[in-house]
Amino acid sequence: MKITGVKAYPAQVGGRSQLFLKIETDAGIFGWGESGLTFRERAVMGALEHYETILIGLDPMQIGFIWQRLYRSQYFEGGRVLAAAMSAIDIALHDIKGKALGVPVYDLLGGKQRDRVPTFASTSAAPGEEMIGQARALIDAGWNTVRLSRFKSADRFEPREAIAKTCKWLVKAREALGDAVVLGIDWHHQLSVAEAASFCQKLPAGTLDFLEEPLRDETPEAYEALRRMTGIPFAIGEEFASKWQFLPYVERDIHQFNRLDVCNVGGLTEAIKIAGWSEAHYVDIMPHNPLGPICTAATVHFAMAVPNLAWVETREAPSEANRVFRDRTLVPVAPELIDAHYVISEAPGLGVEVDEDALANADYQLGSPPLLTRNDGSVTNW
Ligand SMILES: [Mg+2]
Repeated sequence: MKITGVKAYPAQVGGRSQLFLKIETDAGIFGWGESGLTFRERAVMGALEHYETILIGLDPMQIGFIWQRLYRSQYFEGGRVLAAAMSAIDIALHDIKGKALGVPVYDLLGGKQRDRVPTFASTSAAPGEEMIGQARALIDAGWNTVRLSRFKSADRFEPREAIAKTCKWLVKAREALGDAVVLGIDWHHQLSVAEAASFCQKLPAGTLDFLEEPLRDETPEAYEALRRMTGIPFAIGEEFASKWQFLPYVERDIHQFNRLDVCNVGGLTEAIKIAGWSEAHYVDIMPHNPLGPICTAATVHFAMAVPNLAWVETREAPSEANRVFRDRTLVPVAPELIDAHYVISEAPGLGVEVDEDALANADYQLGSPPLLTRNDGSVTNW
C-alpha cells in the first residue's frame, strides 16, 4: 500500500475553526486526522503541503518510520506548526492502519484497558450562583469532575480583579458541592507567578483539586517557583508540541496532571510515549479535547489504551449547550458522549465517518482568538 494523496480541509464550527486532513492510498483505504493549532490553520496547511512531497509513495503502515522521517526532514526541527501538521498525519495513518488490519485504533496502541472513557465537564456561566447551579446539574447528570469558570470579559483581562471575583465563588462552590466532587479551574496562561500565588493563597486548602495552566509554559522554572508557594496539583501541557517539551515537566515532577493534546503533541505516536513516561512518575493523563470530532475520536482511542487516565475533557456537556464545538453535519459518526463518558465503537480505525462534500464546502474565515488588554491598555494573554 502506498500513500497517494493528502487533502486538508479547514472549517468554521461555531466561533472556532478546525482543520481536518484526509490521507488517501492506492488500496482505496483512506484515513482522517485533525490538527489542533486553532486559528492558525493556513500555517498548518502550508506545512502539510511541504510534508505531502515526502509522504507520496510511502507505506502508510510504517507509522513510526514516517513520524521520524517527517520530524527529521527539516534542519529546523520541531515547533508547534510542524507538530500540529504531523499530528494530523499521524492520526490519519492510524485510521488507515486500523482499517487495513480490521481493528480499532486502540488495538494499535496496546488494546483497551477500560470499557468507557470518563470525562470532566466545564461550567460556562461566570463565577456566581448560576455557575454553582451548572456544576450541581453536572454532578446530578453523572460527572464527578467539574472545571469551574474563571472571571473573564470579551476584550479586557485585569488579573487582580479576576482573581478576587473568582476566589470568592470557588470557596462558595466547594461549600455548596461538598468534598466528593473533584473541582478545578483553568487560568488559560493569564497570570504571573505572583498573581497565581496570591490566587492559590486566597483559597482554603482543599478548595481545588487541580489548577490548570495559571502561567505561560515557556519557563518550567516559573512553575517550580509557583510550586514552592502552593500545594494545589498542576494540570499542564495542552500546547506542548513534542515529548521534549514535556521533558522538564515530567522529569522534575512539575505537573501532576498531563494535559497533552494528540492533535498538537505529534499525534498518537508521540502521545503514547509521553503517557508511558508519565506513568513512571505517577502523573495522570488528562487530555485536552476542545477541538473537532476527529480529535475527540483519536483522544478517546488513546484514553482507552493508557492505564494512567484521569479524565478526557469534553465540551459537549449540557453546561456548554450554548456553545458549538461539534458540527454533526461534517462528521456524522464519531464517539458518543453517554452520561459522563465517551463510548467508542469497535469499528476499524478511528470509527468516524466524514461528509467530505460538506467539509469541502464548509465555511472558513481567517480568525483570531480574542485580543485582550488590561485596564491600562497593555497587551495580555487570552
Ligand atoms: Mg486549558
